[in-house]
Amino acid sequence: MNEIYRIAIDGPSGAGKSTIAKSVARALDIDYIDTGAMYRAIGYKMKKEGIDPEDLSAVQTMLDATRIDFRGGDIYLDEQVVNDLIRTPEMSMMASVCSQIPAVRQKLVEIQRGMGMRKSVIMDGRDIGTNVLKDAEYKIYLTASAEERARRRFLELQEKGEDQSFEDVLEDIRQRDHNDMTRQLNPLRKAEDAVELDTTGMEIDQVVEAVLKIVRGE
Ligand code: C5P
Repeated sequence: MNEIYRIAIDGPSGAGKSTIAKSVARALDIDYIDTGAMYRAIGYKMKKEGIDPEDLSAVQTMLDATRIDFRGGDIYLDEQVVNDLIRTPEMSMMASVCSQIPAVRQKLVEIQRGMGMRKSVIMDGRDIGTNVLKDAEYKIYLTASAEERARRRFLELQEKGEDQSFEDVLEDIRQRDHNDMTRQLNPLRKAEDAVELDTTGMEIDQVVEAVLKIVRGE
């Protein structure tokens, strides 16, 4: 495969999108773009600067003065690496809230489209196949039951020493599913031409292999 191609991966929180996308990117030697990290970075900045999500003029001023970039697998917010700062339950919720603001989506989608034009990429998020890269060569909708997704997230948080009960994690997942699927602007849904993969009960390697098969046309 020599020409530029794009792989879009969408699905609800905790479906395993970023783990799978990272492995697929490595196997195909292409860039991985984590659009959720971009919404998290904006949420982080809003929190840090005490910006009220309802104050649209303050949000716009902040956006105009914000730079977001991926370099060498790191996410940069205004030239600071924020990889770890944005991976907390609080920032998950902030991202979900700020992703409903039209100006935030407009800015991030524009950056994401630019990233998908220059070279082959695998991009994951909620609206990649339906909006950001509508003409992506490959589209995958990754899903799993809410309980299974909560179990995965719970183990991940435990490993990091975060103190959240399973019930709280499940409630967070349900709340974010609701926000992501019912928001007015580019809600989460499967693109008509996406292949759906339900990963409940599947091992990571099996899912990666299934995605690679789709891309290789096997
Ligand atoms: O994928 P991740 O859980 O890191 O995304 C955090 C939040 O960012 C999601 O819950 C969703 O509200 C938002 N998001 C979005 N559109 C994307 C990626 C993420 O609205 N393309």
